[in-house]
Amino acid sequence: MLMSQALFPTMRETPAEAEITSHQLMLRAGLIRRVAPGIYNLLPFGFRAVKKVEQIVREEMDRKGAQELLMPVILPAEPWIETGRWTAYGDDMFRLKDRHGKDFCLAPTHEECITTLVRNEVTSYRQLPLLLYHITNKYRDEVRPRFGVMRAREFIMKDLYSFDATVEGLLESYNKMYDAYCKVFDRCGLVYRAVEADPGAIGGSGSHEFMALADYGEALIAYCDACGFAANVEKAEVVPGQAGLYDVHPNVHPKMLEQKTPEAAGTVAPKPQRRKALKKVATPNVHTIQDVVDYLGVPVTDTVKTLFCWALRPDGTKELVAGVVRGDRELNLVKLKNLLGAVETYLAEAGEVLQHASVPVGSAGPVGLRGIRVFADVEVEAMTNFVCGANEEGYHYINVNAPRDFQPEKYADLRVVAQGDVCPRCRKERLEFARGIEVGQVFKLWTKYSEALGCTFTDEKGEKRPMQMGCYGIGITRTVAAVIEQNHDDKGILWPMSVAPYHAVVMPVNSKDSRQMEVARQVYAEMTDLGVDTLLDDRDERAGVKFMDADLMGFPYRITVGQTLAEKGVVEIRSRRTGHVDFVSPEAAAGTVRTLVEKALADVNGSK
Ligand SMILES: [Zn+2]
Repeated sequence: MLMSQALFPTMRETPAEAEITSHQLMLRAGLIRRVAPGIYNLLPFGFRAVKKVEQIVREEMDRKGAQELLMPVILPAEPWIETGRWTAYGDDMFRLKDRHGKDFCLAPTHEECITTLVRNEVTSYRQLPLLLYHITNKYRDEVRPRFGVMRAREFIMKDLYSFDATVEGLLESYNKMYDAYCKVFDRCGLVYRAVEADPGAIGGSGSHEFMALADYGEALIAYCDACGFAANVEKAEVVPGQAGLYDVHPNVHPKMLEQKTPEAAGTVAPKPQRRKALKKVATPNVHTIQDVVDYLGVPVTDTVKTLFCWALRPDGTKELVAGVVRGDRELNLVKLKNLLGAVETYLAEAGEVLQHASVPVGSAGPVGLRGIRVFADVEVEAMTNFVCGANEEGYHYINVNAPRDFQPEKYADLRVVAQGDVCPRCRKERLEFARGIEVGQVFKLWTKYSEALGCTFTDEKGEKRPMQMGCYGIGITRTVAAVIEQNHDDKGILWPMSVAPYHAVVMPVNSKDSRQMEVARQVYAEMTDLGVDTLLDDRDERAGVKFMDADLMGFPYRITVGQTLAEKGVVEIRSRRTGHVDFVSPEAAAGTVRTLVEKALADVNGSK
């Protein structure tokens, strides 16, 4: 491609609309342009990166015996009504009517469509298993689209659906896809972790999320390098009695966590203490745990906080309950929900707590709380002489001890894991924390959709049974953004070879120098012939502009045809990532770059 004929509107300034690095660089490098909130044009270079990711995904799916098809993006309402999702999707679904007034949607996903297809076309166990996928646009009417293509309203996804006759078959399909996903993200050059989205279930988890690690990341994950454990923080269990005293809420920047304290090196057992007499003390204008620590001069580990939550029962009624955790801990609403067998738990508003429990939330505590069930984290059971609110504005209790002063209905693991906690799987190493961008997810659907839509098959004995299904998604446009989020410097993008829109750019420094132009054209032609995706920067621009654009767009190699050609008869091959420079004769340039490109691709392909 000749750059004089290409559309790549680069920008020098960082656009104000972009909050995160990948969004800024995708705009600045001319990869995307906004059409409407959360809806983007993929410009030619951006689209090339997308197609490279698509091709990697395609190859790895096909390698597992999957077949590609293409389902429509406009889908009729009926199957969605049958599965209950026409209502459940709510405002997230883009809906439309045809000229006859019939309801349709812009597909947010394709379980209904593909299950209907397979129901109608597959009848026997002999036709199973089936792995079917497509790569196409998906639509979600996000409340707040942001971060460019990272959280968009229209995006490109690969979704694959597996259909099996047996549970064992489903597990096999699931493992195949898990393996394929690891290969896809390895080949894209991503640093990622497969995170258990639902750990603890017997026979393995029901789902894994593939998280690309990044400073920006919507999810916080806890992981252990020793045994490979990784989970969303709100899912990770706390190992009782093993928590360290280096207590930092995990919701901090990962870089901050690198600063270890001595306490992080070992656990410290709670010291036995004589129980002092309970005392109510005046604490004017003290409302937060920090206020308590400052006003009373106590360590935060000698305080507890009490949070009021609504627990929504399966029958639709709700109950106000209190959760008690140490002052520096976070109450884990998912764990509380599971403990209560509730459908949902969420924090109650201050006004509701005052109305239903007569408690000002800034002075809440478990002592003397009437008519409210109290659940406390196991850590609280071991605490002595601690501080809590007195359920009275401007007062706290000191020297609180359970069970003398209050008796929770139950002690349980109710807090969010924190720095210093031990890995719940191997129980040896301490957990590490990182932020992640979800680039893929694999799900066991079991018979949820096959039962709802009557997708059955006849087994060996002639009996009709619902198919065992799985679904497996990869956000293609999101993966490109995650790659940029992980691969950039202050000059621009550092494309991994496998995803780079072009492998290399040939740059004559002075386009008025006919010898430089001639050699550049020759090298460009040879590289193209050798199958290297190459650009020729034949623009009549200043050298500085060309260099800046090349760095911003981040092509892995730049072949500079400049002064050294006349002086020494050589051209320069420069690696964008390492800055390493080689000088070779113009005749050797194309072959050298091809070898470098092939080596880089082979490294991530794992073909040694
Ligand atoms: Zn571990």
